[in-house]
Amino acid sequence: MMQELHTTKLANGWLQVKVPLPFSLKWVNSYVIPEENGYTLIDPGLRTDEAIEAWEAALALHQLKWTDIARIIVTHQHPDHYGLSGYVQEKSGAPVYMSRASHAYALRLWGEGSRFAEQLKSLFVEHGMPQELVDAIGENLTSFVQMVSPQPKVAYLEAGGTLAIGGLDWQLIDAPGHASGGLCFYQPERRWMICGDQVLPHITPNVSVVPDEDERPLATFLASLEELAGYEVELAFPGHRDPFDDFSGRIQELISHHGRRLVRMAELLAEEPRTAFDMCEALFGGRLRSNPHNLRFAMAETLAHLYELVRQGRAIYSPANSCTSGVYYAISPTR
Ligand SMILES: [Zn+2]
Ligand SMILES: [Zn+2]
Repeated sequence: MMQELHTTKLANGWLQVKVPLPFSLKWVNSYVIPEENGYTLIDPGLRTDEAIEAWEAALALHQLKWTDIARIIVTHQHPDHYGLSGYVQEKSGAPVYMSRASHAYALRLWGEGSRFAEQLKSLFVEHGMPQELVDAIGENLTSFVQMVSPQPKVAYLEAGGTLAIGGLDWQLIDAPGHASGGLCFYQPERRWMICGDQVLPHITPNVSVVPDEDERPLATFLASLEELAGYEVELAFPGHRDPFDDFSGRIQELISHHGRRLVRMAELLAEEPRTAFDMCEALFGGRLRSNPHNLRFAMAETLAHLYELVRQGRAIYSPANSCTSGVYYAISPTR
């Protein structure tokens, strides 16, 4: 099915291509930036037939060829950004750049012999999710392998360095929490920020517990937001929705959102001890049961907040044993 094509020529001369996604997010932004020797392409999208059709149409509309793409940059390893990079690399011959940590994470998820789905499934079982939902999540995860194939050959970008993009020098900022290894790109003269999914307008970036990755993803995310708030930004180029100007205001909203969410969850635990799955349903409702993709994000995000409540001494966790799932208990504030 051919979707309606959305490309926007931005005021700075970049092309914003809204690459379709088969999720509630609807599209991922790809930015096509003119260079002396062709174009830099930021975040090609997810490998689906619809995404490839959209790219073919976008290139034709703007009189471009695949081989005009001279470089591909991936802000972070999530499949909606990284998935099509190997395909575009094959069509264009362009190098793909991302951080070393991001690439290692992509290989852990989708490389040969990946145990990631099994690890995530046992984490969710431990935290009270019914087996049939866990199995549906496992199948959904496996379905992503083809949406990130072929995988690209990657060259690495180092946070802390600078990189010329579109004739300007950009600072590379380590921006973990939403995705470990995620990068933001800051241009100090223009005060532009390419922020991937770390700061999004209208959408709260997902913060997930991931087996064998950061044990305190929410604290990491909030610390990264505090750091990003120190940059003067006039225009931010996000991975979803449209470029926006109130970068620091949006950061403060996201920080407050997570603060409120932690308070709400501590209140729910004070009413009764809960497993992470019970908490997930209390927060997001049972409707997610029919959507394994969204349920996975909701469950991993619930865990990120519960881990944070424990880390802050506002809850305790009683691990699963052969009879019961793991349960979280509130700790009443001392008076
Ligand atoms: Zn992402
Ligand atoms: Zn995304």
